[in-house]
Amino acid sequence: MKQIAILVSGSGTNAQKIIEHFANSEKANISVVISDNASAYALTRAQNLGIEALALSRADFRSGARPLAELRKRNIDLVILAGFLSLVPKCLIEAYPDRIINIHPALLPKFGGKGMYGDHVHNAVIAAGEKESGITIHTIDEHFDRGTIIAQFTTPVEEGDTPDSLATKIHALEHAHFPSVIESFVDKITVMDNQKRLLLISNSTTAGEPYLKYPIGNIASFLKGVKEVAFVPYAAVTFSYDAYEAKVQERFDEIGVKVRSIHRDADPAETIRQAEAICVGGGNTFALLKKMHEQGVVEAIREKVEAGTPYVGWSAGSNVCCPTICTTNDMPIVQPASFAAVSAVKFQINPHYLDTHPEGHAGETREQRIQEYIEANDGMWVAGLREGCMLLVENGTMQLIGARPMRMFRRGTETFEVNPGDDLSFLL
Ligand code: ASP
Repeated sequence: MKQIAILVSGSGTNAQKIIEHFANSEKANISVVISDNASAYALTRAQNLGIEALALSRADFRSGARPLAELRKRNIDLVILAGFLSLVPKCLIEAYPDRIINIHPALLPKFGGKGMYGDHVHNAVIAAGEKESGITIHTIDEHFDRGTIIAQFTTPVEEGDTPDSLATKIHALEHAHFPSVIESFVDKITVMDNQKRLLLISNSTTAGEPYLKYPIGNIASFLKGVKEVAFVPYAAVTFSYDAYEAKVQERFDEIGVKVRSIHRDADPAETIRQAEAICVGGGNTFALLKKMHEQGVVEAIREKVEAGTPYVGWSAGSNVCCPTICTTNDMPIVQPASFAAVSAVKFQINPHYLDTHPEGHAGETREQRIQEYIEANDGMWVAGLREGCMLLVENGTMQLIGARPMRMFRRGTETFEVNPGDDLSFLL
């Protein structure tokens, strides 16, 4: 069941249609209606329909932290903008890549952008002498009224049409189509989430053992049938990418899998797009993510993972699978374009999670560092993944593998341990 949040600023007729559409659905639940305007009638409509209604301020939306926390606390999968007039903050767009849907009352790319809302749009359409108008349902990126178009529906602009009469036709289109387009999108993301295959390993090597020795059996069964992996070597800092590829190849020879490092190709993102499987090695997480952003590899991996391509990451390779790299143990030796990462899972991993604290050492414990993270990132789960452990995501479920429990952190929740075999669905 996917959880949906609706963001509104006004009367909320579209929000009401969406709520009614999903009232008895087994696919999605409207979890909350959030407004940037405390007197929006949409909030009353939501309450009348038994849906939680929440008013936040415009200032909250400018900073983004509070709305993001409210979405995370409710484990939201999909955000619907149904007549929402504030700019969606960057942190929300990064946290929900391709999972924020807007409806625009015209046929984009025409009549979009700043100032193009409500009657301004219809005025402009009529003034331009257009023969047809309509609605555009699209995912958003950081530019208003851009992103990917999901669906468009049209209506003729007739002789004598006024902004009012056109608005009536456009509302009719919205009410008729928006809920079912959302439902199809829910179906699509449900399939994508269920076909994700991830093996997220805490660390490459058990102390005293050869490189990648302990997890190679798990990697072998996870990659069964795969002949070649696209390897991302960018976490290597003090040794070359060639050397990294050779080191991984040596271990992968044992399981008959060829390692092809993406640094060899002119277009590494294309190599990812063509890959049978993807492996991302450990090292420095900042160096890794910087290069991934520069080469478009973050988006390429996200798309591949959503299409069901197997992904193996160890250490920094597990960090970059999370929404951000903010729970890495590494130093920021370089500055990536953003800390936002692949977001193949909804929670954060702290690899190499460590309980011990050297005697006489006055620095923070690992637990203290994570407490600081959750204090500043309300609603987010952090999984302290101890060495020798890994998470396997397959068939819409997640399993902890290894001999040790995993330590779970979230603001306002008492820290606890989960064991191999425990239900981890709260993280999905
Ligand atoms: N430097 C680690 C690694 O081995 C990552 C981390 O500790 O967060 O990739």
